[in-house]
Amino acid sequence: MSKQCNRCGTAKPLSMYRKDRTKRMGVENICRQCRLDATVRGVPELQEAAIEALNNWRSAEPGHIFARAW
Ligand SMILES: [Zn+2]
Repeated sequence: MSKQCNRCGTAKPLSMYRKDRTKRMGVENICRQCRLDATVRGVPELQEAAIEALNNWRSAEPGHIFARAW
């Protein structure tokens, strides 16, 4: 079973997408490669994921940095 990536438009197998149980297909709308690329470039729809990653990274200071930045 494959799914078309919303970003690059390429049909890729579901294993090439990150799992997301809140999505209809059970995976994210964009492929792993695009997700990585978009996260690095700060695409707005991926800010939530980027924030999550940053929060995990800076878990020693919960809320401190983002209270200022957002
Ligand atoms: Zn893609």
